[in-house]
Amino acid sequence: PPSGRDRLRVAIQKSGRLAEPARALLASCGLSWRESRDRLFCYGESLPIDLLLVRDDDIPGLIADGVCDLGIVGRNVLSEQDLANRVDGTGPRFRELQPLGFGGCRLALAVPETWSWRDASQLAGKRIATSYPQLLSKWLADAGIDAQVVLLSGSVEIAPRLGQADAICDLVSSGSTLAANQLKPVQTLLESEAVLAGPAADFDDARAELMELLLRRLDGALRIRR
Ligand code: ATP
Ligand code: ZN
Repeated sequence: PPSGRDRLRVAIQKSGRLAEPARALLASCGLSWRESRDRLFCYGESLPIDLLLVRDDDIPGLIADGVCDLGIVGRNVLSEQDLANRVDGTGPRFRELQPLGFGGCRLALAVPETWSWRDASQLAGKRIATSYPQLLSKWLADAGIDAQVVLLSGSVEIAPRLGQADAICDLVSSGSTLAANQLKPVQTLLESEAVLAGPAADFDDARAELMELLLRRLDGALRIRR
């Protein structure tokens, strides 16, 4: 990984739920940029803080590999990757520096509306579809429940209707997607929002002061919003 850099490179989502709010928050911290022609990189003009526009799922890895210094990503994505790194012995590689107050949602277990729900022991022996296998497996292990985790990269909420799974574990905000699929949330596994993430180790060059500056400005900007 490159070291001794005197600019800070922040990864944010290129398009999607967190893209606009992340840019707006950073702009409210006094940052401005000049965009590259391919719109993947934004060169910091007011401060030496650049943006890299990427898929949200790539952000933890980009930080861990030192390609980016910081990132704005959902806690759900960060926690899932952190657990994977701990399980395979390569982590911890990054940490949550600051919750940012947007992109709020929760990772929840949902079951068909027709189930009469008492408690999680009803999931024993069932198949649960999710894009968050680490978070779900850990929660099941902690609860002492033996269930089958079915990994799906998308459209998790239709898995029960397709007969691929009995229940799901997915992100929920309003709950309307669940209702449209005749599912009901029964248990929250993780409360999530967008967070500023950074590497596990401190910077030992000019990036340390830039990060402090950014954290101070974020603190001010978030205070005004509250
Ligand atoms: P990308 O193309 O970057 O991979 P994506 O489809 O994975 O995009 P989005 O759907 O834009 O990602 O969601 C980004 C983040 O927004 C989620 O990881 C989560 O933290 C947050 N979020 C907030 N509410 C919801 C919701 N109802 N469903 C999904 N994500 C939500
Ligand atoms: Zn994604």
